[in-house]
Amino acid sequence: MVSERKTLVQPAFTDRLLVKGREFTIVSGGRTLGTALCFWVRPCFCGADARAVRSGMILSTHAIVGGAIAYMLPSHPIVVAVAGFVSHFVIDAIPHWDYPLQAISVRKNADNRLLKADRRLWMDLLTIATDASAGFALAILLFYPSAPIWVIALGAAAGMLPDPLQFVHSLYKREPLVTLQRFHVWIHTKRKLNWQIGIVSQAAFAALVAATALVAKQ
Ligand SMILES: [Zn+2]
Repeated sequence: MVSERKTLVQPAFTDRLLVKGREFTIVSGGRTLGTALCFWVRPCFCGADARAVRSGMILSTHAIVGGAIAYMLPSHPIVVAVAGFVSHFVIDAIPHWDYPLQAISVRKNADNRLLKADRRLWMDLLTIATDASAGFALAILLFYPSAPIWVIALGAAAGMLPDPLQFVHSLYKREPLVTLQRFHVWIHTKRKLNWQIGIVSQAAFAALVAATALVAKQ
């Protein structure tokens, strides 16, 4: 019966998700791990949109936190880079919302070597570029000219860097990327908020961090 079902996740994945109507089955290493109905998962997990839940990331918040670190320590660019990079993992540990990507995956065993240059990939790249650009722009708007623009950009880039490194890991599974990916997946919250609460809480968190930095340095 399982073989008749439509495979909605690429074969490169260790776990396969077979979906038939509202019923889905998780298969790993040829063994069926379980079957359940899609009542408790979000709607896009069922049917044609199932591919959309393969991965997720949000960069603007990381950029603003990195920018805030740069604002606090404008004459210490190395500390800004290191602290911005570390801050990424601290933020990832907080329950949040990640926007779904259609083609690119940054999950634990993701393999993006088979990515095709199709519409889904271009949409992902456009989404990520918009997110990252918004992050840079907001960080600079908030913290320039109190800190040099390049230090703010450095902090923002360092704050976002671990996510693109997940993509690099999916292409080249070498150290230190393997260890970094293991740590990134481990520390990343397993609780995913719905998008409404996720967007509001994410904006509130970024605003709180920016306001705290701005007030603290007065
Ligand atoms: Zn991350």
